[in-house]
Formats: sequence, structure tokens, C-alpha cells
Amino acid sequence: MSLPTCRLCAAELTRTFVDLGMSPPCEAILDADQIDGGETFYPLHVRVCPSCLLVQLPAYIPAEEIFSHYAYFSSYSDSWVAHARTFVDRAVQRRGLGSGSFVVEVASNDGYLLRHVRDRGIRCLGVEPAANVAQAALDDGIDTEICFLGEETGAGIAARHGRADLVVANNVFAHVPDIVDFARGLRALLSDDGCVTIEIPHLLRLVEGREYDTIYHEHYSYLSLLTTARVLAEAGLTVVDVDELPTHGGSLRTWSVPAESAGEPTAAVRKVLDDEAAAGLHTLDGHAGFGAAVAEVRNELVEFLIECSRKGATVAGYGAPGKGNTLLNHCGVRQDLLSFTVDRNPFKHGKFLPGTHIPVHPVERLAEERPDYVLILPWNLRAEIAEQLSYVRDWGGRLVVPLPALDVF
Ligand SMILES: [Zn+2]
Repeated sequence: MSLPTCRLCAAELTRTFVDLGMSPPCEAILDADQIDGGETFYPLHVRVCPSCLLVQLPAYIPAEEIFSHYAYFSSYSDSWVAHARTFVDRAVQRRGLGSGSFVVEVASNDGYLLRHVRDRGIRCLGVEPAANVAQAALDDGIDTEICFLGEETGAGIAARHGRADLVVANNVFAHVPDIVDFARGLRALLSDDGCVTIEIPHLLRLVEGREYDTIYHEHYSYLSLLTTARVLAEAGLTVVDVDELPTHGGSLRTWSVPAESAGEPTAAVRKVLDDEAAAGLHTLDGHAGFGAAVAEVRNELVEFLIECSRKGATVAGYGAPGKGNTLLNHCGVRQDLLSFTVDRNPFKHGKFLPGTHIPVHPVERLAEERPDYVLILPWNLRAEIAEQLSYVRDWGGRLVVPLPALDVF
């Protein structure tokens, strides 16, 4: 069998970053009448390129299958809407945007971000492949092109609408298989004195926090600032500044401009690169320890759950996020070790987690069943959820987070 090749530099991917075995798509939640049927499992084998160091998951599931009809509407999340508003304020000020400017957002979803641009009287355009969410933006009066971005579609959009002063590609860069063609699409949309911003979960934070459950099939690339800059350079773009953000367990927002007009990068760029180098992310061997760290997280969690089972203690989950499914499938946790989970989203009630078939109930079920332990699956919201669940202590229950190291509190 031939090895997969790097999506940035085409070298053979001979080195494993971490191999999580086989898993179903993490958002493929099951209805009651589906749990007696079969499920398709795909590999979650993440590799690191020995040549350019891009950490990547081969496109085991094509993007068209995942993103052409996407169920996630960004406007449903209060924190994302607030994040978008703050971003627009900063971008407008930083780039001096006004009524004569033009802003394009790629993966514009339901217009959750461009709404803030429009409200400032700035012309804007969305690019979104999922027709159902794009329609919500169109209904709100936000002009949107329904397509995947690449060099060709980017050039077509620029020909129809003009080139943009600001191109926003927040939380999409890691989710495109052909990342070089996508980057060239960004360049095609951009005027020669414009700027591109990209937000990505930061590989450094993933490694430090052992956040391995952020690995799932639609997350194709796990980027450092070094590898992000290498991809953008292929498209003639240079990273000139970077912000470190707390979102998604720790993200980067890069600011890039056409290479011809790029001056010296800021001190922030230097600092992030230095942090990455110090953590070993600028050498191939520096990536070698992650598999062992992941095994440690699994061992601690599984030991804890088996010990609970031995002594007759009950454990329930809190949340049904995609990342929980990576964790539970990798650890082989089924209903025998985690009797049920709860979620605030009514769409998930009465359904079952993919692969593990753990049932999802309304949050009130916790107070009815009074489990001895509640395992918090969206650990990134640990503080907020621990406060919401403070009543668990009324019956002597305790909370558990699985990583970066198992914590019972
Ligand atoms: Zn490579």
C-alpha cells in the first residue's frame, strides 16, 4: 500500500503524529431506530510531514460530504456572535475600513460575522458552500456566493465583485483538504494592498494541553504558525502579525498581506515562533512524544471508569460535543462505563452518540439519577459548566475532566 502524501509539499507521510484507530464521523449522532444498524468507521491516523512538518489527517471523508449541507448555524452560539463582533471592531480599526471598503468572508455560515460589517455601512460578501446556511444569510440581506473556495472560484468571485480590502477566513483553514488551492483562492480575492485574517486552533496548545479530542475527520490540518506561514507563502502571502486567542482550547489569528508589500513581521510573530520552537514543533523529532501523552490520558480515564464500575459507583456524562466522540471512541467507553450523557441541545435528546451508542438525555436527568460522578466532555468550558453543575455536590457527587490529566473535583 502506498503512503498518503503531504497536502502542502507532496512528500510521503512516513511519520505518525498520533493514531487514534477507527472512529465514525463525530457529528453523526444516531436516532433510536439506527442503533441496530451498521456504522461506517474511518481511520483517525494523524501524520506529520517529514519535509515541511505539516501535521495532517488525510481526507478519509471528502469535504463535500461533510460541508455541503452543514447543520451548524453560527448565530445559535451567543459566544461566537460576541467573538465575531469583537473581531470586526478590531479589524475595522486596524485596517482603517470605511464606507469605501469591501470585506469578503470565506465560510461565512449564516452571516453571523458579516452582519456586523454591514451594520457599519461597509460593503461585504460571503462565500459559503453549505446552501442551507448560506440561504439564512441571503434572507438576512447578506450577499453570498454558494461554493467552495479555490484559486478558480476565487478569481471568478473577484471578477464579479471586485477584490477585497479584507478577506476573513476564520475557523475554516484547518477544515479544507486542498489547503494550498484554498490559500491561492484567498489571494485571488484580495487587493494588492489588502489583508487576510485566518483563525486556526494552535497546534502548540493542542500538544501542551493534550487536547487530542480536537482531532476529528473534518479537521484536516493541525497548524502551527510555522506551517501556516509555509502554506500561505505558496499563495504569495506573508504573515505580518498574529494574535493569541483562548477559543477552541487556544487559537491563533494571523494577519497576512501580499508578499510584495510585506515589511518586517511584528514581535508577536517572533514570540509565537520562538514558543513553538522551544516546544519542539520546528523539528520532526519534536513531534514524537504526543502519542505517548495521548495513551496516558486514555489510561487514566479508563482506569478511573473501571474502578468506578468495580466499586459500583455510577458515572454520567455532561455534553455531547463532537470532541467527546473522539475521546469515547478512542478509549472504548460504552454504556457499560458511562451510562448516559446529557446536553442542553434539545435536537440531541433521545439520540445516541456515534460508535459508542451512549444515550443523550436532557440535563434534568442528572438530578433524577444522581450519579456519583459527572464526566465533563466539553472540558474547554470547564469553569462555566462546573458552576452550572454545582448542585451535583448536594448529593455528594463529584465532577471529572479527562484532560490534560484526569481531575476529579
Ligand atoms: Zn509536507
